[in-house]
Amino acid sequence: MGERLGVFGGTFDPIHVGHLVTAVNVRHALDLDRVLLVVANDPWQKAALPVTPAADRLAMVEAAVAEVAGVEASRLEIDRGGASYTADTLATLGRLHPGGELFVILGSDAAALLSTWERAEEVRAAATLVVVTRPGADRKAPPPGWDHRVVEVPRLEVSSTDLRARFTDGRPLDWLVTDPVVDVIRQRSLYAVGHMASPWSEPS
Ligand code: ATP
Repeated sequence: MGERLGVFGGTFDPIHVGHLVTAVNVRHALDLDRVLLVVANDPWQKAALPVTPAADRLAMVEAAVAEVAGVEASRLEIDRGGASYTADTLATLGRLHPGGELFVILGSDAAALLSTWERAEEVRAAATLVVVTRPGADRKAPPPGWDHRVVEVPRLEVSSTDLRARFTDGRPLDWLVTDPVVDVIRQRSLYAVGHMASPWSEPS
């Protein structure tokens, strides 16, 4: 029997505990063999916004999942280059895993926008949609006609946008991002952390 593969795409700028809790809980709820956190190379939905280089975002995701069973970082979209379209990613994964079953995992905010996706019809045909309830935006259904499953995960009120604001302001980030991610951020001086007071509480 082919593998049951979760595909959780994102900018992950940075990856946070909301993403990790989602990946682990969807894997469990749907009995998936693996969940791939697919790091967007060029997130076209965020074209107008500055985004941390893909190599740095990938390093954070790899660090975050190193000790997490059944959850892996995928560099597929980075290696492909250009704009990151899920339709292309599913086509590649379909070739790499013949006979496998693909599940595209989305926050419900993202699911509501599915019809705006590039080649949405191909996505619909290639995978089962998994809509995860997301803080502040849950219960938005995907457009009619999309076969989907809903998975409830603990509601964690955290977003990458808020985290970046916290970096800028020097507010605490403890427990919102995991320690291995903190290490990568420090080593690479991401989010200008190397140039400001530490946003992590120092041990007393
Ligand atoms: P930003 O705030 O920059 O938009 P984000 O926190 O939404 O970032 P993304 O990398 O854009 O993170 O999200 C990737 C996927 O994770 C999307 O499907 C999004 O809906 C989902 N997601 C983001 N935050 C959470 C959360 N706290 N709980 C569950 N899913 C989440």
